[in-house]
Amino acid sequence: MKQKTIFTCQKCGSQSPKWLGKCPDCGAWNSMAEETVVKTSHSVRPTGSAQPVPICDVPPQTETRRPTGIGELDRVLGGGIVPGSLVLIGGDPGIGKSTLLLQAMHTLAEEAGKVLYVSGEESASQTRLRGERLGASSKNLLILAENSLEAILSQAAHLKPAAMVVDSIQTVWTSALESAPGSVSQVRESAGKLMLLAKGSDIPIFIVGHVTKDGSIAGPRVLEHMVGSVYIPNGLPCMY
Ligand SMILES: [Zn+2]
Repeated sequence: MKQKTIFTCQKCGSQSPKWLGKCPDCGAWNSMAEETVVKTSHSVRPTGSAQPVPICDVPPQTETRRPTGIGELDRVLGGGIVPGSLVLIGGDPGIGKSTLLLQAMHTLAEEAGKVLYVSGEESASQTRLRGERLGASSKNLLILAENSLEAILSQAAHLKPAAMVVDSIQTVWTSALESAPGSVSQVRESAGKLMLLAKGSDIPIFIVGHVTKDGSIAGPRVLEHMVGSVYIPNGLPCMY
């Protein structure tokens, strides 16, 4: 494994091999943080079971949006949850993102089977308390108090849930990077791996992202290029 030090702007994700006082991309001052990248060998493994198919033989996409039963959420999702989608639920801390998702996951658990709620901020018992207050107590609503991305991916691959929540993306960290949880590199890497999981398994995944004081979600440009939509529960849905 090779180690490399890079400097990443914590506002926009711009990277530089040397420290800069001012980010050349977004103009922020003193936003560059040192991050060590552990380069795992990127030798391409011949994995994947996808086979080339004549275009006329590809089965047509059927609309399979599944309503969450929560009107405002279904509205911004365009009618419901799409299999294999990664959706960022953004907003200020304490605005009700966890509550909204816990309710939606309870409804899904009752109708569609096991759903996985990864709680990186609250313990399992705290999440249970929150669930009890909401009437979200389905046997199929599984709580996992975990911060390790590798552990989360492994549990999800094993469980194959009907849907999954990661609350919040800022608490998830991968051992592939030495930077702190919540740093731009960690958030980007974690979201990227979750997107691969969603696309590869058809599991719809919601990630909670807290908006920082200056209105950015762990660096504004980090996630917006990756995710299907950003939903701010205070009435400001931002579609990307
Ligand atoms: Zn920047």
